[in-house]
Amino acid sequence: MALTFRGGMHIDDHKNTRRCKIEALPPPAYVSIPMSQHIGAHCAPCVKVGDTVLKGQVIGRVETGLGCPVHASVSGKVTAIKEINAANGTKIVNVVISNDGCGTLDPSIHPYQKRIQDITSDEIIEIVKNAGISGMGGATFPTYAKIQSAIGKVQHLIVNCAECEPYITANHRLLLESPTTVINGIKILMRALGLRKAEIAVEDNKLDAINKLEEHLVGSDIISVKVMKTKYPQGDERQLIYALKGVELPTGKLPSDIGCVIFNAETCHAVFEAVAHGMPLIERIVTCDGDCIRTPKNLRVPLGTPYLDVINYCGGLRAQPKKIVNGGPMMGTAQWDIEAPVTKGTSAILVFSEKNDLHYDQPEACIRCGRCVRNCPMHLMPNYLASFSKTGAYEQAEDYGVMSCVECGTCSYNCPGQVPIVQYIRKTKTHISTVKRAQQAALAASKAETTASEDKNQAAKEETK
Ligand code: SF4
Ligand code: SF4
Repeated sequence: MALTFRGGMHIDDHKNTRRCKIEALPPPAYVSIPMSQHIGAHCAPCVKVGDTVLKGQVIGRVETGLGCPVHASVSGKVTAIKEINAANGTKIVNVVISNDGCGTLDPSIHPYQKRIQDITSDEIIEIVKNAGISGMGGATFPTYAKIQSAIGKVQHLIVNCAECEPYITANHRLLLESPTTVINGIKILMRALGLRKAEIAVEDNKLDAINKLEEHLVGSDIISVKVMKTKYPQGDERQLIYALKGVELPTGKLPSDIGCVIFNAETCHAVFEAVAHGMPLIERIVTCDGDCIRTPKNLRVPLGTPYLDVINYCGGLRAQPKKIVNGGPMMGTAQWDIEAPVTKGTSAILVFSEKNDLHYDQPEACIRCGRCVRNCPMHLMPNYLASFSKTGAYEQAEDYGVMSCVECGTCSYNCPGQVPIVQYIRKTKTHISTVKRAQQAALAASKAETTASEDKNQAAKEETK
């Protein structure tokens, strides 16, 4: 029987591209590569305008803190280094490279000289870090740091191939077309973590991918395929862990705190490419779909490619777009620029017309139907959380567990009263986090002041002596 979690719901999956083979997008005329494509510190460009760069060359590095480098996805000339607006309103420095069309590879790219069984865990971590790999399911946490923090703490390696967001089929196609690279990437990660077992979790709306993996894993007692019920948000790591292990991840804890580590299928593929071929992360698979797209496709896209190039390769727009979304329709981010660049976290580009935009054309009115409560995978009371947000009762919202909301959007999607619940929740979470940060900063400043004053008193005492 397919495994699942409590709560959630079945939503139309719109997997229109499930049979669309991955095509390579012809390299664009230019790429605009953001210096922040992962959680952590921003990279600083290490090239300047006018430099000639090679495909795979490092063009940005993190000086200190959490983060990994970014690489040129084409060869050519750096024509600009400028700030552009990211979807969340922040400004991010981009390195713009005019493509010379030669695709000349950086000579430093070559396969690692040792056999996999001879590579140490530290060496794998170093390769993964230098290749700039971060989680490709959307969270974009640097993979090397995830491995480091999991070593010695985890017993279960889970590969997340649930791909529960509607429209997106990038992982599905990768499993069908390149199962061995994913499996070999898993083996490399198992070696890095010192584990002897791994599970690949796939929803049961991808039976062809499940069969393909099982064909390749026949006789394997180290990697198994787990069939998950098709239900949203099955791909959320908390739900995945519960479905597979029957354990709830407490709020504020990481999967590694309960012995699990989760990687996305495309991340495993990227790890294999880095170790086997020395190839840094410079491209990814993107599903381009939505009712405005003439011919939806799955494409292998160089990072930094403008969305417009991807859309044009899919036959262009056939209707006036209302919304462009980076990622899935439930948890993706609306973009304000059709020339926004594809990044390590862009699993999909979805373009919707007015008719597919969620309308809040009637005044919201909770009719106490309880649907949002019934479907919330985190067992919250979304209707209450929305009310608290409206009245500014943020402390009460915190008492009711607002900070454990995973922002899956299930509550809003299903609300007959047109209450934009998740938007209210986001507002509350932002408010609480801002207040907490301010309190922590004030506390740190006050502690520093006390220490300085104590030091001064001590110095004065010693002078008196
Ligand atoms: S689903 Fe909407 S209408 Fe129903 S209880 Fe929740 S907020 Fe109210
Ligand atoms: S967005 Fe938050 S409150 Fe709404 S269903 Fe998802 S976890 Fe529950």
